[in-house]
Amino acid sequence: KQRNHHEPEFLQAVQEVAETVIPYISTQEIYDGKNILLRMVEPERVVSFRVNWVDDSGEIQVNRGYRIEMNSAIGPYKGGLRFHPSVNLSILKFLAFEQVFKNSLTTLPMGGGKGGSDFNPKGKSDNEIMRFCQAFMSELFRHIGPNTDVPAGDIGVGGREIGYLFGMYKKLRNEFTGVLTGKGASWGGSLIRPEATGYGNVYFAQNMLATKNDSFEGKIVTISGSGNVAQFAAEKAIELGAKVVTLSDSSGYIYDEEGINTEKLEFVMDLKNVRRGRIHEYVEKYPNATFVKGEKPWTVKCDIALPCATQNELDGDAAKALIANGCTCVSEGANMPSTPEAIEAFHANGILFAPGKASNAGGVAVSGLEMSQNSLRYNWTREEVDAKLKQIMADIHASCAKYGTNDDGSIDYVRGANIAGFVKVADAMLAQGVV
Ligand code: NDP
Repeated sequence: KQRNHHEPEFLQAVQEVAETVIPYISTQEIYDGKNILLRMVEPERVVSFRVNWVDDSGEIQVNRGYRIEMNSAIGPYKGGLRFHPSVNLSILKFLAFEQVFKNSLTTLPMGGGKGGSDFNPKGKSDNEIMRFCQAFMSELFRHIGPNTDVPAGDIGVGGREIGYLFGMYKKLRNEFTGVLTGKGASWGGSLIRPEATGYGNVYFAQNMLATKNDSFEGKIVTISGSGNVAQFAAEKAIELGAKVVTLSDSSGYIYDEEGINTEKLEFVMDLKNVRRGRIHEYVEKYPNATFVKGEKPWTVKCDIALPCATQNELDGDAAKALIANGCTCVSEGANMPSTPEAIEAFHANGILFAPGKASNAGGVAVSGLEMSQNSLRYNWTREEVDAKLKQIMADIHASCAKYGTNDDGSIDYVRGANIAGFVKVADAMLAQGVV
């Protein structure tokens, strides 16, 4: 705590893991006296670098770039890149730390990492985005590689940015390798990768609901965010017969009582991915819906809530509002969207609650499958990848149940995910000695 006192998000993520893993360690002799958790909270390597680029008006801009190589005990570092003005060491270390456990849960051989920049992509031209990505990669390429560290997308980094980053890496190294995931389907990308985090989150929630003989059919679902994860969580929930009534961005949320159907969702995808507009434009197209400025969608009555925007977007009061409105299931698409107070309220009220490191692991799982396909120089079909994703989400659910089942039969998914993720990495670290 002393060493990282200026990193609140990182401390929050570590505390949540420590609270569940330390009691477990104390019952397991093999971990006794090995300081495993203490080693896990210290990144193996942190790279911070200057990113110079020239904007459209000819002015030289300076941003800060990072890559946190957190843990490589079970495979190459793997984790996304975030471009957002809020990016700093605390946020990237929390994300990298979570990533270690999440990647372990996927059953695939991937270590944990995360990176990004305080660059703000909002309002930038396509050329500016390209120049920034090239400048960013002109340093990052030294530190990554298909067997070393394989970045992917995150907030502000989607298919377009991965393309520019990949193009620059290929030019600098003169090699075509699977160094990034989330690539386009015609140049090494995996089918279902864009959909994977959102779909996987819904698959995980399906597994949770099945423990209560329940499903998405006929349920009212609130979703926050309107980016990659939110869009495909909505798509899958709609396909399973749910009524999705909200989406949001950092300026507020839209509420559509009639439900956001497939056609309306297509409008949102075009709005956000092609025209790069704001979510409030939804109500101009569909006037029966309302836009609530500056608020989050947690006061809307729902059965299932899927927070898919960003960290700490669902606090204790929001959790209480959800519970009072009859919500019974919360499955995190974003990383750490629920505050500790919110999680406490969910647990105290018997809500089915999935932490992101379990429920949003579908994205990195399909990234792992993209790496496998790149190594094989072969592509699996949509159906094959989707079937593997479904199986992985079911396996993660089973791992959570293995380590998180309470005496009364209910499942503490936070404890389950943390311990299951920990065991695999800790055992590998023990086997590899103090290095
Ligand atoms: P996108 O950039 O595609 O979308 C992010 C969405 O969240 C946008 O609607 C954005 O609104 C909103 N948002 C971002 N920051 C804030 C903020 N500070 N306050 C309110 N809203 C905000 O990112 P993704 O969909 O890829 O990522 C969303 C979450 O999912 C993140 O927590 C990410 O770490 C997590 N995640 C993503 C994975 C992936 O495969 N992409 C994998 C696993 C987890 P606005 O446009 O106004 O900023």
